[in-house]
Amino acid sequence: MNNIYDVIILGAGPAGLAAGLYAGRSCLKTLIIEKGQDGGQIAITDEIENYPGCNVEEESGPSLMARFTAQAAKFGCDRVSDTIKEVQLEGKVKKLIGVKGEYEAKVVILATGAFPRPIGCKNEGKFVGKGISFCATCDANFFEDFEVFVVGGGDSAVEEAMYLTKFARKVSIIHRRDELRAAKSIQEKAFKNPKMNFIWDSVVEEVDGDELLNKMVLRNVKTGELTTYEADEEDGLFGLFGFIGMVPNSGLFEGQIEMERGYIKTDEDMHTNIEGVYAAGDIRVKSLRQVVTAAADGAIAAMQAEHYLSNLE
Ligand code: NAP
Repeated sequence: MNNIYDVIILGAGPAGLAAGLYAGRSCLKTLIIEKGQDGGQIAITDEIENYPGCNVEEESGPSLMARFTAQAAKFGCDRVSDTIKEVQLEGKVKKLIGVKGEYEAKVVILATGAFPRPIGCKNEGKFVGKGISFCATCDANFFEDFEVFVVGGGDSAVEEAMYLTKFARKVSIIHRRDELRAAKSIQEKAFKNPKMNFIWDSVVEEVDGDELLNKMVLRNVKTGELTTYEADEEDGLFGLFGFIGMVPNSGLFEGQIEMERGYIKTDEDMHTNIEGVYAAGDIRVKSLRQVVTAAADGAIAAMQAEHYLSNLE
């Protein structure tokens, strides 16, 4: 049983790292598996001002996440960088099969989060990384003095659009309705920003270009009218950022665990329908997907895991 972990945590976002901190601190033999960089979605977020206790003036996603990572490491969590291809969650020993190896544990905490929903227009795939982006923090500097469009009307779209105004000469929000979903305080700042422009009741139908994105067709959802936007001849390119919500990273667990619209169902103590399997953070059905709620989920899942393990023969 030596190579069997007490707890394997899948995903090193706020939920997974908080679970690691609590499991490690409870002296459980813990492994965190992550295929990419730590922090998940929050690692690509520019400003964090609503995580309690964060440094309001200068906290960024990466700075906050670096402290989460260091804290989990301090309490002795093992780390592996691998992509898990298959999970076997039933039974007393759970197995995760990755590209680089196989991992076993008595408890698994699923904290795989979610990824940005594609814009859903024709030719989108051809222009991701060539004008289309889902991360302002990563790609804003490529659009210094260019024109940029942002799809969406929620907090993410409006906040990221504001961030993009620090780089782009003009930022237009394309929203499918005629009012934003974003919090009123965020809206107020956006409406006051002279670089911001709003294209209401519209969706992106199609994108095009030679090598880089320089043309798109918008459809007005009320009138059906199609409008073609072309990049300035001098620019030869514009940016298109998508912030229209998230898709859960749960394909791996399909058919094994109870889900609702792709999100894992848990009780308030993070138990899934499988004994010894917990879910935490954005991957689970919940009403508020924030760093603070993800971290709380991770802590609860780890403490429940500790109770479960102490009752095992
Ligand atoms: P969201 O609140 O779900 O907003 C998604 C936006 O995209 C909505 O405006 C929606 O339009 C639009 N949309 C959805 N599907 C679309 C489609 N197929 N085509 C075009 N538009 C589409 O997502 P989010 O902004 O990513 O925020 C997610 C959660 O994180 C929210 O709870 C939010 O409050 C939170 N968040 C908080 C902060 C903060 O507090 N600072 C920052 C970022 C995110 P409709 O409005 O018409 O539905």
